[in-house]
Amino acid sequence: MVNAAEPGRPAAPRPQPRGSAAPSRPEPPPWLLTGPRTRPEPGGRTTTPRAVLFDRDGTLVEDVPYNGDPARVRPMPHARAALARLRTAGVGLGVVSNQSGVARGLLTRQQVEAVRDRIEELLGPFDVWAICPHGPADRCGCRKPAPGLVLAAARGLGVEPRRTTVIGDIGADCAAARAAGARGILVPTAATRTAEVAREPEVAADLAEAVELALSGADPGCPVAPRGGGPGR
Ligand SMILES: [Mg+2]
Ligand SMILES: [Zn+2]
Repeated sequence: MVNAAEPGRPAAPRPQPRGSAAPSRPEPPPWLLTGPRTRPEPGGRTTTPRAVLFDRDGTLVEDVPYNGDPARVRPMPHARAALARLRTAGVGLGVVSNQSGVARGLLTRQQVEAVRDRIEELLGPFDVWAICPHGPADRCGCRKPAPGLVLAAARGLGVEPRRTTVIGDIGADCAAARAAGARGILVPTAATRTAEVAREPEVAADLAEAVELALSGADPGCPVAPRGGGPGR
């Protein structure tokens, strides 16, 4: 499903047509935002080969639809401490985010990067950002619940998907994780559909609990039985 992104480097991202999409274009690649803000790792990453990937809107920061304004970035509760906990544990950190506002002509790459920069100011650096700039009609392989963003981020971190956990606020985040062979943990908000919460095997009350859950197994990438709680929490 994500084979378009597999052979060699993805082509340079092309501007999306405003509004409508070109359905004939096969699986355009996700954006991988790396660069100056990526944590330098002299000699390459040698820490524990594990990763936790976070959904952005409604998970790391409050969900402001199609937000391109850094001034409107507000972290979710416990986000900073939860991330610090993972950094201390030597876990690779990434963000996997659908930003269909780009395809809809509501967001530019500059705005997406400006919001990324503000989030890193508030929450600290991430090792990789994988962004889907496409809309539902683009038939890309990266828009969650497709696995492309998770696979691209894991590859960018040099971590196997099965040793990767995705934390998100809707069912599509966890579905993308499973489709990639990773583990998914749901942290519902008031906006999360009840049916999606009921369907997920691993649900945490907040980011602090989600991170403890992610770290609880010897291998956070291996699916484990839900600890306590379970569906419906
Ligand atoms: Mg979300
Ligand atoms: Zn995409």
